[in-house]
Amino acid sequence: MVIKDLEDYAKENHVPIMEHDGIEFLTNYIKEHEEIKNILEIGCAIGYSAIRMAIIRDDIHVTTIERDQERYLKAIENVKAFHLDDRITILFQDALEVELDDKYDLIFIDAAKSQYIKFFEKFTPLLSVNGVVFSDNLLFHGYTKQKERIESKNLRQLVQKIRKYIAYLEENPDYITKFYKIGDGIAVTKRR
Ligand code: SAM
Repeated sequence: MVIKDLEDYAKENHVPIMEHDGIEFLTNYIKEHEEIKNILEIGCAIGYSAIRMAIIRDDIHVTTIERDQERYLKAIENVKAFHLDDRITILFQDALEVELDDKYDLIFIDAAKSQYIKFFEKFTPLLSVNGVVFSDNLLFHGYTKQKERIESKNLRQLVQKIRKYIAYLEENPDYITKFYKIGDGIAVTKRR
């Protein structure tokens, strides 16, 4: 199995995985920062980004969380096919119910957009001293920057939540965030 097979599967089965430019940005960052060894991912889907991160260096371990059973089982299968089961731990749980006590050099938030503030508050206490948080989908296909009123109520509420998360990061007294218009919009957050 090769990476392209995962991308093809995701496309054929409508599984949302990181966009090409976004995953390049994230993996390049990890390549440039050799101190990143322990990674926590919220939102595993079929294991695509976890595998992309784990194959960067042999000393990288990824813990990733997925609440959808079908995707979780597919992720297990994919991780095995890449012989990464000793370096990728997949938790089948709702991330907001997971109990972890390890420290992580990078936390990647890529799950339900409506809960980003909750994920951030729950998991940042686990960030190592120089740790970094990546949050994906902050442009949300351009909707978060759209000035015109969004017709669908559900979509409007979701966009409001993402805007709220962006404001939360911008105004956070303890963390400093840079926003990148890469992929679907990525925020990189560090302690001040
Ligand atoms: N990071 C993956 C990649 O790029 O290959 C894509 C993740 S996909 C955008 C988001 C995933 O998060 C979905 O599969 C969804 O089931 C899962 N998810 C959403 N909310 C979650 C939660 N509260 N706990 C665990 N998983 C969640």
